[in-house]
This record gives sequence, structure tokens and C-alpha cells, in this order.
Amino acid sequence: MTTQNPVFIPGPTNIPDEIRKACDMATIDHRSAAFGNILHPARAGVQQVLKSTSAEVFIFPSSGTGGWETALTNTLSPGDHVLVARNGMFSHRWIDMCQRLGLSVEVVQTPWGEGISADRYGEILAADTDHRIKAVLATHNETATGVVSDIGAIRKAMDRAVHPALLFVDGVSSIGSMDFQFDDWGVDVAVTGSQKGFMLPAGLGILGFSEKAMAARGDAALNRVYFDVRDMEKGYANNAYPYTPPVGLMNGLKLGCEMLLGEGLDNVFARHHRIAQGVRQAVASWGMELCAVSPELYSDTVSAIKTPEGFDATEIVNLAARKYNVAFGVGLGEVAGKVFRIGHLGSMSDVMALSGIATAEMVMADLGLDIRLGSGVAAAQDYYRQSAKQLQQFAA
Ligand SMILES: *Cc1c(COP(=O)(O)O)cnc(C)c1O
Repeated sequence: MTTQNPVFIPGPTNIPDEIRKACDMATIDHRSAAFGNILHPARAGVQQVLKSTSAEVFIFPSSGTGGWETALTNTLSPGDHVLVARNGMFSHRWIDMCQRLGLSVEVVQTPWGEGISADRYGEILAADTDHRIKAVLATHNETATGVVSDIGAIRKAMDRAVHPALLFVDGVSSIGSMDFQFDDWGVDVAVTGSQKGFMLPAGLGILGFSEKAMAARGDAALNRVYFDVRDMEKGYANNAYPYTPPVGLMNGLKLGCEMLLGEGLDNVFARHHRIAQGVRQAVASWGMELCAVSPELYSDTVSAIKTPEGFDATEIVNLAARKYNVAFGVGLGEVAGKVFRIGHLGSMSDVMALSGIATAEMVMADLGLDIRLGSGVAAAQDYYRQSAKQLQQFAA
């Protein structure tokens, strides 16, 4: 680990020392086989993390936001219709980007704390008989509210409507920490960034494109230059980039994928589910509620916790930083001041989570909230004790 406290923001996440070291590289020629030995395994690793056998993986010097732009500009044309639900700050920002790019956006207004309604998407698509909607957008895990949406159900709704739109999924705060099934869900473009489930510093926008999304790149008339996947493809064929790649970050990504795949993806997802369950036990013991309105929406990577009416939740985040040097997430947009967030994605263990829960308790008690010190910690401890599995290396 590190000499600092773990962070509990839902990205950037804690960086394992091995990955920090892998990112710290002397300069190599980025148009050489040596770079190819980083680039190709990193792309193959991302493909496996996406649970895909065929997705074309693109890695841009950027972040998740650049990934959104890459998805849109490489597949769509000015005035194209897109369907998207707004249920938190991240879906809100993606909508804003669509509008600023000159797309015609059909927004399904959804209360913050709820998930995307696959049924509503299905109705709209079924009514779109002349197929004006070219892309359906979905934020898999709304990081602002800690709400996960059912992407498989959205795909089924699209299929039921026999609608040919592309399916774009923001998996920035899910991929690598929560199950994501690119192939089985029929995702056309998946977007993420390096600083969340992959446990790296920020700096990479990471995407998977389906064959159908790749086929759309020829006709797509939105302007793009830096994020043009056609230039990137040509580079890849020559172990290179159309410009200078962040070689150290890519080397870190290669290792991040190896670590996730070495642990086993389903073990990684189970670990995050367990950690999140412990956090949820703590929240319940505090007599508090999540922003997510029902259990099937609970995110395993971030918990947005509602604070009592009239209390400014941001004070929790500020005091935790000032007094205990621990970072939690503030509420964003519509839920600013109403929730604080405990991020538990990326490099995280139950023991680390206990320190976050303990810190949150100290801060809330400091601020005069009716919290009994140790109550949440004990609830999480009980859950972790019951659900812990013996580590393989200690197995008899
Ligand atoms: C963090 C995040 C983003 C934004 O990514 P950046 O890397 O900050 O550009 C987009 N969507 C979701 C769901 C996120 O959690």
C-alpha cells in the first residue's frame, strides 16, 4: 500500500504500489516493438476485462469524458437522434456533450436515485418506426447516486423493439469492479477511464467498439481529429500511435489487467459486492439510507448516503479531509449537500473499508449527528467475519 490513508472517493481510486512502479518507466521508443509489447497486451487485457472476444479496444490519452466524445464522434452525424436517461450528474454531463456536439437528444428524465427504465426505452424505440434514433446511451453505474442500471434489460428492450440503434454504455465506474458483459449484453461502445476500476492514475480514456460500431465510423460525419479511431487503428497496426502515447500509463494498464484477470474477474466482482454489503450494513446501523431507492439498484462501487434534512452533507467531506486526512465524495448536482459518498471501487479490501466507515463515524459524531461510535464498524465487521473466505495461500 502507501504511506497515506486510502481514499474513499469514487475515482480516482487507490493505486497499488506495483502499478505505480509499472507506470514509472524510463523513456522507450514509442514506435518500436518494445512499445508493441505493452500496447497489444494492454488492449487484449481490456478486451478480457470487458468479457468480450471481439471488441476493438482503443486507448486514448484522455479520461472517461474523452471516451464519451470518442464514442459519439466516431459513429454519429450532426442532427442524429440519441436516446438517453438523465438520472445523475454523469448522465447529465454526457447529455450536455451530445447537445453541444449538435446531436438531437431525447432525454428520459429520471429521478436521481432511480435506474434507467428499460421499459421506457423500449416504448420510445418501438414508437420510433422510421428509426431516427441512431444510438441509445446508458450510464451503467451512476457515480453521483450510487445507482446501477440493468444493461442486459436495455439490450432486450432494444431487441424486442427490433430497433437497429447502437448501444453506448458508460462503464467508467463499473468496468473492472462490477460485472460488465460487452458481448452478452450486445454493447456497441463501452467507455471507461484508467483511474477507476483499472486502479491507475487518470490519463487514459479506454473504449471497446463492436463490429457494428466500427462499421459506423465510415459514415459518421461529426468532426473529430484527436479522437479519430481510424487514425488510431492505423497506428496500432505499426506498434504505434498517431501521436505520442503515455507509455508508462499503458504499462500500468497492462499490469492492472493482469492483476484483475489473475484474481479472476468474478472474484473481483464478488470482493466488491462483499465490501459494498459491509458498507451498506454500516449505513443501516447509522439509521441512514442510500440515495439508491431500492436494493437491486445498489452499486457495488460507490454508496451515496443521504444525511438528515437540514444538514449539509458536504461538511462531512470537508471535516474528514481537514481533521483526519481522509477523502470521501461530495454530493453532485441535484444531490449536492444532501448526500456524501463512500467510494469502494478499484484497489479496496474489507479492512480498508472498515477504516473508511470508522472515519465517517468520527466525523459525523464531531458534527453532532446522532451516531454511536463503532455502530457501523461493528455491523460491517459482523458481515465481513461471516462472509470472509480463507485466502488461497493459507488453505490446508
Ligand atoms: C468518473 C466518471 C466519468 C468521468 O470520467 P473522467 O475520467 O473524469 O473524464 C464519467 N462517467 C462516470 C460514470 C464516472 O464515474
